[in-house]
Amino acid sequence: MSDVESDGRADSEGWGICEERLLERHMEMARIGETPTGGVDRGALSNADTDAHALVMSWFRQSHYRIEVDDVGNLFIIRAGQDPNASPVMTGSHLDSPPNGGRFDGTLGVLAGAEVLASLDRHGVETRRPIELAIWMNEEGSRFSPVTMGSAVRIGRLGLDEALNSVDENGAVFGPQLQRYFEKLGLAPMPRPRLDPAFYVELHIEQGPILENRGVRIGTVSGVQGVRQYRIDVTGKAAHAGTTPMDMRKDAFVAACRIAAGLTAEFADDDGRTRFTIGRMRVLPGAPNTVPEKASFTVDLRHPDPRRLAEYDAKISTVAAREASPCAVAVEPLISLEPVVFNPGICDLITGRARRRGLSVETLLSGATHDAANMATLTKTGMIFIPCRDGVSHHEDEHAKPADMIAGANVLFDVILALAERTDAHAAIAAPALI
Ligand SMILES: [Zn+2]
Repeated sequence: MSDVESDGRADSEGWGICEERLLERHMEMARIGETPTGGVDRGALSNADTDAHALVMSWFRQSHYRIEVDDVGNLFIIRAGQDPNASPVMTGSHLDSPPNGGRFDGTLGVLAGAEVLASLDRHGVETRRPIELAIWMNEEGSRFSPVTMGSAVRIGRLGLDEALNSVDENGAVFGPQLQRYFEKLGLAPMPRPRLDPAFYVELHIEQGPILENRGVRIGTVSGVQGVRQYRIDVTGKAAHAGTTPMDMRKDAFVAACRIAAGLTAEFADDDGRTRFTIGRMRVLPGAPNTVPEKASFTVDLRHPDPRRLAEYDAKISTVAAREASPCAVAVEPLISLEPVVFNPGICDLITGRARRRGLSVETLLSGATHDAANMATLTKTGMIFIPCRDGVSHHEDEHAKPADMIAGANVLFDVILALAERTDAHAAIAAPALI
């Protein structure tokens, strides 16, 4: 490792997080809700999800920590700062998972944040700003809709009532499940909004193949691309497969294929940044000897430029109408998320701190959405990515190398410490001007 130093002092080996503890806690966390084949199943507010939150709480019983929960179940571990009026620096991620998910998505960011706090204690470091570890409720949205629920309520993009009334596929309602979670954790939710953080930085696995392919250790995330999802419903006429001549059919599936081909041509990736996917197709009535009456399919479209996404909105309807004849077609928007740009100053800070640790670093855009995308509307925000094997995520095969987990957590440590402004006696040189 090259020239690693803290703010204001060159330090011996071990400056940063505790590597063994990070890996041990990662294995401990992976046992909560573990699946027989190496993944985790921790739907939001399940027993496993609640137990995972309780485990993190159990690590912070010392008197200089406060533990708070808000009215949608976001959990905050707060390390006191020297200045009682300073707005905090926040890091965090989530502990819930999709069904048969991996051990790294979300969990890494929470464990690394916990490491930052505990390691500052170990090094005897005091900071001007408080540091908060946020564990966001229901990031995945796979049990209760929508995705990034906790952070969306926190920033006011989603109403609390909408969250509380969300119902899972077994009929369980979010609100009563949340009460159970509060009781199990022994916490009463705070009624009022918290003090806004001055900065938010989240560590996450990339969930894509770019860093691994390029052999790069650390990703500085410039932003999150925008997302559109639609359902396209094509309606024709059911008919007998043997008796109906081809030129007398209204075959909904054939029309859907024409629309799909037209959209594929329209959204050919001319600038290397468009992502176009048809992930689900349903045909009704679905009998081998019946001409399909209905065909429905989804379109997922992503791009970092909001103007391009607005153009795409119009093109979907144009192509669908052009190719549907003689069938009828309806285009139903499902999801519309605008692109997010992270704070350039935090991006530079991440890049600089990675280089100081001798780590290769590259700037990239996030293909998936994160709680950080919500936080970016509230405060100066950045994200750190580490590579994951074959870019696989939301799957039991999800894997990140221990060395990369450690590297990412150390960069997070350096960045959070720089933003929180060190004040203890060992900080010989004033914290650098930032952001
Ligand atoms: Zn995640």
